[in-house]
Amino acid sequence: FLSIQNVKKSFGNVAVVKDFNLDVGAGEFVSFLGPSGCGKTTMLRIVAGFEEPSAGKVLIGGKDVTGLKPNQRNIGMVFQAYALFPNLTVAQNIGFGLKVAGVPKAEAQARIDEMLGIIKLPDFGDRYPYQLSGGQQQRIALARALAPKPKLLLLDEPLSALDAKVRISLREEIRSIQKKLGITTIFVTHDQEEALSMSDRIVVMNEGRADQTGTPFEIYNRPSTKFVANFVGTLN
Ligand code: ATP
Repeated sequence: FLSIQNVKKSFGNVAVVKDFNLDVGAGEFVSFLGPSGCGKTTMLRIVAGFEEPSAGKVLIGGKDVTGLKPNQRNIGMVFQAYALFPNLTVAQNIGFGLKVAGVPKAEAQARIDEMLGIIKLPDFGDRYPYQLSGGQQQRIALARALAPKPKLLLLDEPLSALDAKVRISLREEIRSIQKKLGITTIFVTHDQEEALSMSDRIVVMNEGRADQTGTPFEIYNRPSTKFVANFVGTLN
């Protein structure tokens, strides 16, 4: 469903993504795992259309989207820091993309209610972001990303600002929502456990390259490089 072909990205003369290739099937949950600075966020931003690749292309649903703006790519995104609009209610936050897309009011309201149900916060529509816990805010951010029914969900370290207990319960919740909707998902993280417990496949990134791509079982039990073994903890 998503195809990343020979993508390279340099900032000035620093090569941040060196030669990245990946095919993601429809409904698959794939993590980009690697240490700080390995280029995983940059790669995600290229898929999203916030950065243009220096070389290579990105196809979504068979269509070459290289050069298209983020809002032309039919994607939903959730970032690390809660990026909710503080002056809008939860319902208005979730409905934001629908309003922009010109979805009629009644239909938007139905979609907002449906999303509140999916994230299990049915009675939270009239609250403001400051009245929510960090975990609740991230669930609202997820609902907002999913409300316009994107074909691709991009998650950039959505759990890293949360405390351990919330982080673990949200791992399961995100995965269960993702499966229920069948939405193709890319999840960026530096947390091995998160990647191993959530993903269908993991891309372990090292200095701008995909060192190994495989199932959590393959990555953990048959690391193909020393870097992968070290990073996923097999050698610790
Ligand atoms: P982190 O988890 O710390 O965000 P990452 O693996 O996601 O790490 P990137 O954010 O993709 O890494 O950054 C990779 C490298 O590219 C870093 O060295 C960063 O400083 C550099 N970089 C990212 N964006 C830019 C930019 N706009 N201009 C110049 N350098 C950049």
